[in-house]
Amino acid sequence: MATMLRLMWHIHVNKESLWIKWIHNAYLRNDDIWHVQAKNWDSWIWKKILKVRDKAVNFCGVVPWHRTIWETTNFPSHSFICWLAIQDRLLTIDRLIKRGLMNTNNCCLCTGSENRNHLFFECCYSREVWLKIMGWLRFKWQSCNWNQLVIWYSERLKGDGFNQRIKRMALTTTIYSIWRERNFRIFKQKARSADQLSKDIKLCIYSFVLNGSFKAEDRELIISL
Ligand SMILES: [Zn+2]
Repeated sequence: MATMLRLMWHIHVNKESLWIKWIHNAYLRNDDIWHVQAKNWDSWIWKKILKVRDKAVNFCGVVPWHRTIWETTNFPSHSFICWLAIQDRLLTIDRLIKRGLMNTNNCCLCTGSENRNHLFFECCYSREVWLKIMGWLRFKWQSCNWNQLVIWYSERLKGDGFNQRIKRMALTTTIYSIWRERNFRIFKQKARSADQLSKDIKLCIYSFVLNGSFKAEDRELIISL
Protein backbone atom coordinates (compact mmCIF):
# COMPACT_ATOMS: atom_id res chain seq x y z
CA MET A 1 0.00 0.00 0.00
CA ALA A 2 2.90 2.35 0.84
CA THR A 3 4.42 1.66 -2.57
CA MET A 4 1.12 2.42 -4.27
CA LEU A 5 0.74 5.67 -2.30
CA ARG A 6 4.25 6.65 -3.28
CA LEU A 7 3.43 5.96 -6.94
CA MET A 8 0.29 8.08 -6.60
CA TRP A 9 2.35 10.95 -5.20
CA HIS A 10 4.77 10.72 -8.12
CA ILE A 11 1.85 10.71 -10.55
CA HIS A 12 0.34 13.70 -8.71
CA VAL A 13 3.51 15.79 -8.93
CA ASN A 14 4.13 14.58 -12.48
CA LYS A 15 7.61 13.32 -11.69
CA GLU A 16 10.09 13.25 -14.54
CA SER A 17 10.11 9.56 -15.42
CA LEU A 18 9.13 7.75 -18.54
CA TRP A 19 6.59 5.58 -16.73
CA ILE A 20 4.85 8.54 -15.07
CA LYS A 21 4.73 10.37 -18.42
CA TRP A 22 3.21 7.27 -19.96
CA ILE A 23 0.60 7.08 -17.18
CA HIS A 24 -0.35 10.70 -17.81
CA ASN A 25 -0.72 10.09 -21.53
CA ALA A 26 -2.46 6.75 -21.30
CA TYR A 27 -4.77 7.23 -18.30
CA LEU A 28 -5.00 10.83 -17.19
CA ARG A 29 -4.82 13.14 -20.19
CA ASN A 30 -6.90 16.09 -18.90
CA ASP A 31 -7.88 14.41 -15.64
CA ASP A 32 -5.96 14.03 -12.38
CA ILE A 33 -5.12 11.09 -10.17
CA TRP A 34 -7.74 12.10 -7.56
CA HIS A 35 -10.73 12.10 -9.91
CA VAL A 36 -10.02 9.64 -12.72
CA GLN A 37 -12.17 6.47 -12.77
CA ALA A 38 -10.99 2.98 -13.76
CA LYS A 39 -12.27 1.53 -17.02
CA ASN A 40 -12.83 -2.18 -17.72
CA TRP A 41 -9.95 -2.35 -20.17
CA ASP A 42 -7.41 -0.64 -17.89
CA SER A 43 -4.40 -2.67 -16.75
CA TRP A 44 -4.57 -4.46 -13.40
CA ILE A 45 -1.80 -2.31 -11.90
CA TRP A 46 -3.69 0.88 -12.75
CA LYS A 47 -6.90 -0.51 -11.24
CA LYS A 48 -4.91 -1.48 -8.15
CA ILE A 49 -3.49 2.05 -7.81
CA LEU A 50 -6.99 3.54 -8.06
CA LYS A 51 -8.31 1.09 -5.44
CA VAL A 52 -5.57 2.25 -3.05
CA ARG A 53 -6.41 5.85 -3.95
CA ASP A 54 -10.07 5.27 -3.00
CA LYS A 55 -9.01 3.70 0.31
CA ALA A 56 -6.70 6.63 1.08
CA VAL A 57 -9.39 9.17 0.16
CA ASN A 58 -11.97 7.37 2.34
CA PHE A 59 -9.50 7.28 5.20
CA CYS A 60 -8.20 10.86 5.01
CA GLY A 61 -11.02 12.58 3.13
CA VAL A 62 -10.41 15.12 0.38
CA VAL A 63 -10.95 18.68 1.46
CA PRO A 64 -12.06 21.38 -1.03
CA TRP A 65 -8.67 23.11 -0.76
CA HIS A 66 -6.54 20.08 -1.65
CA ARG A 67 -5.84 21.48 -5.10
CA THR A 68 -4.86 24.91 -3.75
CA ILE A 69 -2.32 23.41 -1.41
CA TRP A 70 -1.12 20.34 -3.27
CA GLU A 71 -0.83 22.11 -6.63
CA THR A 72 1.98 20.45 -8.57
CA THR A 73 3.53 23.85 -9.35
CA ASN A 74 4.09 24.45 -5.63
CA PHE A 75 7.27 23.57 -3.82
CA PRO A 76 6.50 20.56 -1.54
CA SER A 77 7.95 22.35 1.52
CA HIS A 78 5.67 25.35 0.86
CA SER A 79 2.63 23.08 0.44
CA PHE A 80 3.43 21.31 3.69
CA ILE A 81 3.67 24.51 5.78
CA CYS A 82 0.50 25.82 4.16
CA TRP A 83 -1.27 22.53 4.90
CA LEU A 84 -0.34 22.84 8.58
CA ALA A 85 -1.31 26.54 8.63
CA ILE A 86 -4.75 25.92 7.11
CA GLN A 87 -5.47 23.39 9.82
CA ASP A 88 -4.02 25.72 12.49
CA ARG A 89 -1.42 23.13 13.42
CA LEU A 90 1.71 25.30 13.27
CA LEU A 91 3.20 25.86 16.71
CA THR A 92 2.43 29.56 17.02
CA ILE A 93 2.98 31.25 20.39
CA ASP A 94 -0.70 31.08 21.44
CA ARG A 95 -0.53 27.28 21.06
CA LEU A 96 2.77 27.07 22.95
CA ILE A 97 1.18 29.06 25.82
CA LYS A 98 -1.78 26.64 25.91
CA ARG A 99 0.72 23.80 26.28
CA GLY A 100 2.47 25.62 29.12
CA LEU A 101 5.68 26.05 27.11
CA MET A 102 5.66 29.87 27.03
CA ASN A 103 4.25 32.63 29.23
CA THR A 104 4.13 35.77 27.12
CA ASN A 105 2.86 36.36 23.62
CA ASN A 106 4.65 38.89 21.43
CA CYS A 107 4.54 38.80 17.65
CA CYS A 108 8.12 39.04 16.41
CA LEU A 109 7.00 40.88 13.27
CA CYS A 110 5.07 43.69 14.99
CA THR A 111 3.90 44.68 18.47
CA GLY A 112 0.78 42.47 18.55
CA SER A 113 0.24 38.93 19.88
CA GLU A 114 0.95 35.91 17.72
CA ASN A 115 -1.63 33.40 16.61
CA ARG A 116 -2.17 31.93 13.16
CA ASN A 117 -4.64 34.56 11.96
CA HIS A 118 -2.54 37.41 13.25
CA LEU A 119 0.78 36.08 11.97
CA PHE A 120 -0.31 35.42 8.39
CA PHE A 121 -2.86 38.15 7.69
CA GLU A 122 -3.63 40.60 10.48
CA CYS A 123 -0.02 41.51 11.26
CA CYS A 124 0.94 44.83 9.63
CA TYR A 125 4.21 43.22 8.38
CA SER A 126 2.38 40.32 6.68
CA ARG A 127 -0.26 42.65 5.26
CA GLU A 128 2.46 44.71 3.60
CA VAL A 129 4.00 41.55 2.09
CA TRP A 130 0.62 40.33 0.73
CA LEU A 131 -0.16 43.71 -0.81
CA LYS A 132 3.18 43.79 -2.60
CA ILE A 133 2.92 40.21 -3.91
CA MET A 134 -0.70 40.42 -4.97
CA GLY A 135 -0.15 43.87 -6.48
CA TRP A 136 2.73 42.42 -8.49
CA LEU A 137 0.44 39.66 -9.81
CA ARG A 138 -2.30 42.23 -10.51
CA PHE A 139 -4.51 40.28 -8.22
CA LYS A 140 -7.37 42.16 -6.55
CA TRP A 141 -6.67 41.02 -3.03
CA GLN A 142 -9.50 41.75 -0.63
CA SER A 143 -9.64 38.90 1.82
CA CYS A 144 -7.55 38.55 4.91
CA ASN A 145 -9.69 35.86 6.45
CA TRP A 146 -8.61 32.22 6.28
CA ASN A 147 -12.05 30.76 5.63
CA GLN A 148 -12.96 33.26 2.92
CA LEU A 149 -9.55 32.91 1.34
CA VAL A 150 -9.70 29.11 1.27
CA ILE A 151 -13.23 29.13 -0.22
CA TRP A 152 -12.19 31.74 -2.78
CA TYR A 153 -9.13 29.78 -3.87
CA SER A 154 -10.98 26.44 -3.86
CA GLU A 155 -13.90 27.72 -5.92
CA ARG A 156 -12.49 30.44 -8.15
CA LEU A 157 -8.81 29.67 -8.54
CA LYS A 158 -8.83 25.95 -9.23
CA GLY A 159 -8.18 25.99 -12.98
CA ASP A 160 -5.15 24.78 -14.91
CA GLY A 161 -4.33 28.13 -16.53
CA PHE A 162 -0.94 29.71 -15.86
CA ASN A 163 -2.46 32.68 -14.04
CA GLN A 164 -4.35 30.49 -11.61
CA ARG A 165 -1.38 28.19 -11.00
CA ILE A 166 0.86 31.15 -10.25
CA LYS A 167 -1.71 32.62 -7.86
CA ARG A 168 -1.85 29.31 -6.00
CA MET A 169 1.93 29.29 -5.91
CA ALA A 170 1.98 32.88 -4.61
CA LEU A 171 -0.30 31.86 -1.76
CA THR A 172 1.78 28.89 -0.56
CA THR A 173 5.13 30.63 -1.15
CA THR A 174 4.05 33.73 0.80
CA ILE A 175 2.68 31.71 3.73
CA TYR A 176 5.89 29.65 3.81
CA SER A 177 8.07 32.77 3.60
CA ILE A 178 6.22 34.57 6.43
CA TRP A 179 6.59 31.47 8.62
CA ARG A 180 10.29 31.22 7.73
CA GLU A 181 10.86 34.91 8.47
CA ARG A 182 9.17 34.49 11.85
CA ASN A 183 11.45 31.50 12.64
CA PHE A 184 14.58 33.33 11.46
CA ARG A 185 13.77 36.22 13.79
CA ILE A 186 13.11 33.96 16.77
CA PHE A 187 15.84 31.36 16.32
CA LYS A 188 18.56 33.12 14.31
CA GLN A 189 18.00 36.77 15.24
CA LYS A 190 17.95 37.66 11.55
CA ALA A 191 15.33 40.02 10.14
CA ARG A 192 14.31 41.14 6.70
CA SER A 193 12.01 44.05 5.91
CA ALA A 194 8.60 43.39 4.34
CA ASP A 195 10.00 44.91 1.16
CA GLN A 196 12.98 42.51 1.12
CA LEU A 197 10.81 39.48 1.90
CA SER A 198 8.39 40.29 -0.91
CA LYS A 199 11.32 40.71 -3.31
CA ASP A 200 12.60 37.26 -2.28
CA ILE A 201 9.14 35.74 -2.85
CA LYS A 202 8.94 37.35 -6.30
CA LEU A 203 12.41 36.06 -7.13
CA CYS A 204 11.45 32.54 -6.06
CA ILE A 205 8.33 32.51 -8.31
CA TYR A 206 10.13 34.28 -11.12
CA SER A 207 13.07 31.85 -11.22
CA PHE A 208 10.72 28.87 -10.92
CA VAL A 209 8.83 29.97 -14.02
CA LEU A 210 11.91 30.92 -16.03
CA ASN A 211 13.68 27.63 -15.22
CA GLY A 212 10.57 25.43 -15.54
CA SER A 213 8.86 23.88 -18.51
CA PHE A 214 6.40 26.71 -19.11
CA LYS A 215 5.24 28.07 -22.44
CA ALA A 216 7.08 31.07 -23.91
CA GLU A 217 3.97 33.24 -23.48
CA ASP A 218 3.79 32.35 -19.77
CA ARG A 219 7.43 33.34 -19.29
CA GLU A 220 6.83 36.58 -21.12
CA LEU A 221 3.86 37.26 -18.90
CA ILE A 222 5.89 36.87 -15.71
CA ILE A 223 8.70 39.02 -17.12
CA SER A 224 6.20 41.75 -18.00
CA LEU A 225 4.91 42.04 -14.41
ZN1 LIG B 1 2.48 40.87 14.06
